[in-house]
Amino acid sequence: MVNYNQAFEAAVAAVRAEGRYRVFADIERIKGSFPKAHYHPEGGEETREITVWCSNDYLGMGQHPNVVNAMREAVDKVGAGAGGTRNIAGTTHFHVRLERSLADLHGKESALLFTSGYVSNEATLSTIARILPDCVILSDELNHASMIEGIRGGRSVKRIWRHNDLEHLEDMLSELPLERPKVIAFESVYSMDGDIAPLPEICDLAEKYNAFTYLDEVHAVGLYGPRGGGIAERDGVSDRIDIIEGTLGKAFGVMGGYIAANAAIIDAIRSYASGFIFTTALSPVLVAGALASVETLKVSPQLREVHQERAARLKSLLTDAGLPVMPSVSHIVPVKVGDPVQCKKVTDYLLQCHNIYVQPINYPTVPKGTERLRLTPTPLHTDDHMFALLEALDDAWTALSLQRVA
Ligand SMILES: *Cc1c(COP(=O)(O)O)cnc(C)c1O
Repeated sequence: MVNYNQAFEAAVAAVRAEGRYRVFADIERIKGSFPKAHYHPEGGEETREITVWCSNDYLGMGQHPNVVNAMREAVDKVGAGAGGTRNIAGTTHFHVRLERSLADLHGKESALLFTSGYVSNEATLSTIARILPDCVILSDELNHASMIEGIRGGRSVKRIWRHNDLEHLEDMLSELPLERPKVIAFESVYSMDGDIAPLPEICDLAEKYNAFTYLDEVHAVGLYGPRGGGIAERDGVSDRIDIIEGTLGKAFGVMGGYIAANAAIIDAIRSYASGFIFTTALSPVLVAGALASVETLKVSPQLREVHQERAARLKSLLTDAGLPVMPSVSHIVPVKVGDPVQCKKVTDYLLQCHNIYVQPINYPTVPKGTERLRLTPTPLHTDDHMFALLEALDDAWTALSLQRVA
């Protein structure tokens, strides 16, 4: 007899044994007091006020008055849900306007919404492989799980190039016949290390070897470029990237995902991608909020400047305190712990003793041995928040005898 429950329990026990069992923090963010939140220990009703240091709402747009008001107006006007798939009664005027706004953001002819960034990667990459016969997908080794799933789903040949290694990528491209379809799939800002891909050089290679480019800008849209069009906009290469993919759930502070590309590509993905076709369209309330956020950030370069200043400030404070900040050229500030059990202990300690919330980042999100804290300072994290964080980290590093940098 198969003991089904035992199989599931054993699977969880294995995760626990490695010290990477995931515990979700039960929190309620406090609108108007970002980055503060109420924390419910053990999911009970009593709460403690904490400071959130690990949110992907990088600019606090999830609480921006333009966004919140747009959502309130939308729910009053059209109600809660879309009421159907995009093809069957679910395309609202909000969807049409947001797709236009996103196409404009990236300087592309068209854009297409999905229910999340994950779904946009999974659905698009798997569809590309079906549309381009006999194609080879060249995937950066640190690509996000959603890209990996999409590539797997397309069942094309896949080659993995070493992270951001142009020579390795060129070796692979040069070995393939010029006329064989090739897709280079990569990200701009890699969200766990905070490094940035050399976009212009990758575009040069793509042009030299006649390859198609697919770029995940999830951690860059809203944050980089004069209008928040991402690293491709910052580097002036948006027109050299075939498909730009982004999320509405991180810097834009709401929910949803999208791709932007020329009209023929968008029309094809719209017509073939199962993950786009067979699912209820995003709620118009979410879409209205995302539209307000995208439009607001197009004209808010000062918010992006403060964001970068805050990240640089935190990196320098941590470095001065001898804490092991990992090198990062972006707004992401990783601090290395190097062990999953210690990593969880540090974050428990920060929450219990200092009311500071940072989620531990363990395998498989990052390679084993590089477990870390991933700090995400926003324009709303003040110097005082940073000093409190430093004091707490210093205390935790001493209490747990963790390694410092000389
Ligand atoms: C978070 C993330 C996604 C998925 O986006 P969601 O909108 O959260 O589903 C895709 N790619 C990368 C690199 C991400 O970090």
